[in-house]
Amino acid sequence: MTSQFTLYNTLTRSKEIFVPLKPPFVGMYVCGPTVYGDPHLGHARSAVTFDLLFRYLRDLGYKVRYVRNITDVGHLENDADEGEDKLAKKARLEQLEPMEVAQYYTDRYHHFLEKLNVLPPSIEPRASGHMMEQIELVQKILDEGFAYESNGSVYFDVGKYSQGHDYGRLSGRVLEDMLANSRELDGRDDKKGACDFALWKKASPAHIMRWKAPWSVGFPGWHLECSAMSIKYLGERFDIHGGGMDLMFPHHEAEMAQNTVCCGQGSARYWVHNNMITLNGQKMGKSLGNFITLEELFTGSHRLLSQPFGPMTVRFFILQAHYRSTLDFSDEAMKAAGRGLERLMAAVETIDKIVPSDRSNVDISDLEDRCAAAMNDDLNSPVAISVLFDWVRIINQLHDGSAMISAPDLERLRTFFHRVVFDVLGLRDDNAAGRNDIVAPLVEMLLAIRNEAKRKKDWATSDNIRDRLAAIGVAVKDRKDGTDWSLTAPSE
Ligand code: ZN
Repeated sequence: MTSQFTLYNTLTRSKEIFVPLKPPFVGMYVCGPTVYGDPHLGHARSAVTFDLLFRYLRDLGYKVRYVRNITDVGHLENDADEGEDKLAKKARLEQLEPMEVAQYYTDRYHHFLEKLNVLPPSIEPRASGHMMEQIELVQKILDEGFAYESNGSVYFDVGKYSQGHDYGRLSGRVLEDMLANSRELDGRDDKKGACDFALWKKASPAHIMRWKAPWSVGFPGWHLECSAMSIKYLGERFDIHGGGMDLMFPHHEAEMAQNTVCCGQGSARYWVHNNMITLNGQKMGKSLGNFITLEELFTGSHRLLSQPFGPMTVRFFILQAHYRSTLDFSDEAMKAAGRGLERLMAAVETIDKIVPSDRSNVDISDLEDRCAAAMNDDLNSPVAISVLFDWVRIINQLHDGSAMISAPDLERLRTFFHRVVFDVLGLRDDNAAGRNDIVAPLVEMLLAIRNEAKRKKDWATSDNIRDRLAAIGVAVKDRKDGTDWSLTAPSE
């Protein structure tokens, strides 16, 4: 897959040919999770989207430094820089040390992402571990004259910034509209302008997560960490900045303003945002009561689910939509994804059973070119998957003898199919793992007992084993030279 890779850039609102600053190196920063709640479908979509991008860039031959942060401080209850720190609140309610809460949910996040076959990033920095860098950045913005101190807190001066820069460029918002739509400052407010955002907040006496800085004992504003950590690990200018669309404003807009003041320009050349998941057509949210965690999905323990869904079904479901489209979750859609995945994995196994001919009447470059074209078109995974399904049909024809393939072409087909399915899309055949690790030896053991019974002409035992295997979904077929078995599709 070497033709030109295009990526949609939120900053320019257009698809652009991807050219890294220093090929073959690519620097990519993605906003990771806040760690005070259990990972849910929204986390999965963002993680799988940027895992696909990470995997595809590597497939194209780039050496990617992928930085994905952990937000364990400074995430307040609302975007107006007010309310309690959400992590500290959870710690207070559960009588835990805040870092216990952060560690617990970080571990949960890793656990579920591993199940989804999401590759770990190259570096995973935590906001709380980069306090010096954040304090230095606040000082720099103050020195440049784009921030002011107010009662021990420091705010970014959006009014001043927007005199020479476009605050709203990334998210497509207009400052006048934002000001008109924000609440009136009530005079007791520390801020000068309603759109100003906190760089440093003085901690109230009850606030448990606090650090010493020149302005007060307090904590950094949420947007600051991503500027500080991306500069530290990727430099002032790097290739890709990603995150969920809900982070575009104010988080990424504010981050870009901070970087522009400190470094003379916004950090990333390409800003990439994945769209949201809706649930039966509605926005997903805890308050709306239609919120599904990954644990609930994998165990089926949610009132909207009729059954558990495996991690690979969830991953395949996400990949079946383009990352910039909304994705509507429903029990039916998940079942359909499960069936599709099963068909694809069956085809992967069928490839190994194809007997090559001395010539081909199928064209492998059709598969290769169309898959590459889809992936090069802004990571169009649904189109790439539809090309794979065109070839599922052809693979079945090659297997039943209605089409022909030469030995070298068969090897090329196998290699390419595996590369797209396993390496790029990051799918895993979870059923095969079960079949191979536990089920297969058990079935083989039962068939050995059955063969022994047949040898002794104990037909009752032999038939009993065959029938009871059939009842649990293992089809047994006797042949001249032995016994074949296969798993029949689980009934739904
Ligand atoms: Zn961020």
